[in-house]
Amino acid sequence: MTGTMISIEEAQERLLGFVDVLGKEEVPILDSPGQVLAEDVCSEIDVPPLDNSAMDGYAVRSGDTEGASQGSPRLLRVIDTVAAGYVSGQKVTPGTAIRIMTGAPIPGGADTVVQFENTDEVQRREPTAGKPITEIGILHETEVGLNVRRAGEDIRKGTLVLAEGTVIRPAEVGVLASLGKTHVAVISRPVVAILATGDELVEIGQPLPAGKIYNSNTYSVAALVRRYGGIPRILGIALDTEDSLVEALRQGLDADMLITCGGVSMGDYDVVKDVLAREGEINFWTVRMKPGKPLAFGTIKGRDRTGASKGIPLLGLPGNPVSSMVTFEIFARPAIFKMMGRKSWDKPAVEAVLEDTVTNRDGRRVFARAIVEKRDGQYFARITGSQGSGVLTSMSLANGLVIVPEDTAEKQAGDIVRVMMLDWNEEVV
Ligand code: AMP
Ligand code: MG
Repeated sequence: MTGTMISIEEAQERLLGFVDVLGKEEVPILDSPGQVLAEDVCSEIDVPPLDNSAMDGYAVRSGDTEGASQGSPRLLRVIDTVAAGYVSGQKVTPGTAIRIMTGAPIPGGADTVVQFENTDEVQRREPTAGKPITEIGILHETEVGLNVRRAGEDIRKGTLVLAEGTVIRPAEVGVLASLGKTHVAVISRPVVAILATGDELVEIGQPLPAGKIYNSNTYSVAALVRRYGGIPRILGIALDTEDSLVEALRQGLDADMLITCGGVSMGDYDVVKDVLAREGEINFWTVRMKPGKPLAFGTIKGRDRTGASKGIPLLGLPGNPVSSMVTFEIFARPAIFKMMGRKSWDKPAVEAVLEDTVTNRDGRRVFARAIVEKRDGQYFARITGSQGSGVLTSMSLANGLVIVPEDTAEKQAGDIVRVMMLDWNEEVV
């Protein structure tokens, strides 16, 4: 049963059935992008708090500008200057004006702002040689409210500004700051413990003995965890024995999810499944996809954040560096998003003209690394050279994955294909 190859959708559903939305936490607003708001945010203030000027100019009574034109300026006495951050102690009365800077509160008595360009400010500024301007000529009629930003125009006191469930982006950080908030309640980021397996692996920064390779999966996977909002916890490298694996996994039993890389194929030393069976339960093994068929999932006995015993989801990714990354995108990313309280996790996809041929020999869903470009309003997808599951540079060159469905034996150059985009960049836009 556990060895039966299942569809991607079924595997996703089974995995997501074992992950729950995490609890909430208060974080500094600058740490919150990518997290989901865990409460409604209402404003306790008006933003802006006072009527203020949208222009540098003169705060006046609109009645005083009637009939004003280039040929017949209306002369007003200038009684004060007010800058942003200050409140004028003066009131604008008929025949007077207050010089005002952008963002400064509108003085009492004024109902409009005439921008400098519609006054003779420039001609008057030079001769005063730094002394305050005492009189100004208004050169345009100005209606009530022009260039005035109303109190509460952006946000009204007492209203709902950001709803629970909103994914925080830089704009939301700005909105929270405009309300004066330092912290915000969000769904926690999942801690994802990552364990590499393989006697052949050497940690980066160390010399490379004969027969060994550097452990790259831990780092590509940790970078993906971070990219999608989780907190990676690196558990290091386990040898290809059950005991070594169990021992290393022990350090991760309070994580929200465990990810192992490698050791899930049919080989003599592929012990992840045995460990899952021994320390927990296997839910599935092998998924109808390429790369990534030998994917294992189950739960392992661990503890939740309160210390209570709980089955921790363990995703056993295949060891080939490309397979690890592709299966992460398809399975680990949705799990992380679900734990973070996000409601959707589809990557953007485009329809593109394929420029190479991609074959599908055994009825699995193929994900072929590709470079998508937009030319003359049409997307084109080019395969990034060798599709060996160990050729990580082909992943580095790619910005998308061309999908060949299970029931399609081949997609040829010129065919329209669906491409799951891993990134958007200049060539795509
Ligand atoms: P496995 O699934 O353990 O048989 O691994 C498949 C292939 O991926 C082998 O060639 C491994 O050497 C390689 N591999 C496994 N784990 C890693 C890793 N952490 N970093 C780089 N390559 C790996
Ligand atoms: Mg291995």
